[in-house]
Amino acid sequence: MQQNDKNKKSIQDKLSTIKYNCDNTSHLIPDKKKCAKCKEKTCTFICPADVYSIDESSGEIIVQYENCLECGACRIACPKQAIDWKYPKQGSGVIYKHS
Ligand code: SF4
Ligand code: SF4
Repeated sequence: MQQNDKNKKSIQDKLSTIKYNCDNTSHLIPDKKKCAKCKEKTCTFICPADVYSIDESSGEIIVQYENCLECGACRIACPKQAIDWKYPKQGSGVIYKHS
């Protein structure tokens, strides 16, 4: 194994260096009516932090906003522009640190 390979970190390793100060309400609110008609469900695979998933019983989108990295990808990628996307309120959300 080369030195560069040894120093490479997996996405899980990188995510483990991130800290969160969770808000008590979600800053990501998908429009349920639009989501119900969405075939693509792009949010469930575009998010690097697996924030979105589908509830198997109801078929509704589940949002684990506490894990959000605030990258904005879901807002841009959603084919129905269905996500009411805000930054978490001041002092909340993701805290990046260098390791
Ligand atoms: S991609 Fe957009 S419209 Fe489709 S399920 Fe996700 S948030 Fe809803
Ligand atoms: S902003 Fe980025 S990390 Fe947060 S839910 Fe959207 S895609 Fe995921």
